[in-house]
Amino acid sequence: MATKISEIGEFKLIERITSNVKIYNNSTIKGVGDDAAVVERDNEYYTLITTDLLVEGIHFNLVYTPLKHLGYKVVTVNLSDIAAMNGIPEQITVSLAISSKFSVEAIEELYEGIKLACQRYNVDLVGGDTTSSITGMMISVTAIGKVKKEDVVYRNGAKVNDLICVSGNLGAAYMGLKILEREYLLFQELTKENSTTPFTPDFMGKDYLLKRQLKPEARLDIIRALKEHNIKPTAMIDISDGLSSELHHICKQSGTGCKIYQHKIPIVDEVYTTAEEFNIAPETAALNGGEDYELLFTINNTDLDKVLNIDDIFVIGIITEKEEGLNLIANNTKIELKAQGWIAF
Ligand SMILES: [Mg+2]
Repeated sequence: MATKISEIGEFKLIERITSNVKIYNNSTIKGVGDDAAVVERDNEYYTLITTDLLVEGIHFNLVYTPLKHLGYKVVTVNLSDIAAMNGIPEQITVSLAISSKFSVEAIEELYEGIKLACQRYNVDLVGGDTTSSITGMMISVTAIGKVKKEDVVYRNGAKVNDLICVSGNLGAAYMGLKILEREYLLFQELTKENSTTPFTPDFMGKDYLLKRQLKPEARLDIIRALKEHNIKPTAMIDISDGLSSELHHICKQSGTGCKIYQHKIPIVDEVYTTAEEFNIAPETAALNGGEDYELLFTINNTDLDKVLNIDDIFVIGIITEKEEGLNLIANNTKIELKAQGWIAF
């Protein structure tokens, strides 16, 4: 009997196809189930490997995504996964499927973005593959990095009473996407009506949100700062699917619960004002929006003073016993955190 993928969702699908994967080599330290795979390298270091596939029409819309930005983003989202293992990226490979609608110049523009990210993050483009596709574009990037053996951080190391931290701010990338989608719909309406008025999208005051959506950065600066301050997180993940979903991953794999405080979640003013325009709660954008590519990590509570000395890191809650579940405290009320995840199917 055939099960529809939409019936079980992405996470369950991954669980099903990877549950009986056998490991045949001692050099495989960590297989499926974290931000990157961990492989034996030498006495001092492990190699980290991660890969992502972006598909036109699912992950990006080329009507409002400049190709240069897309190239930059497809690299940084992979570097973010290396950062989430407490590692440093060194190489990438890029594989591309393209239909005949793309010109040579368009692909060069995409690679300009890829090369810019390589320069910004000191990473080498070392290979890949190109092929044709029936419609649209698919890009897959694999990033390779390294981490000192004693420094590697998994999702499963959070302990009761550890403090929960996030870098940067949350929800802005999602609000950026909402703006782009709104203007895209207006543009489509006008096209349908055969309007002669030229369409000018209204992006006034939305620069920051658009930048967060179109050109995210990987927080390797946070990895460096943690190291400088002698902090090794107990668990870590990058925020690609939204805070709520990532907390579920950490808690599930660590066998814990958690409690986060709504007023502690870092959200910038632009998210508040734009969320109001769309009639959605800014916290919803932060909890379920995704694509912020910030780091979510837990630290031993004895490291609190050290972490408070680092810019752009916020303590938002605490790890609790598993039995207590995952909770958000908002105005003194306890709300159960639901994992939404990425609904691409
Ligand atoms: Mg990740």
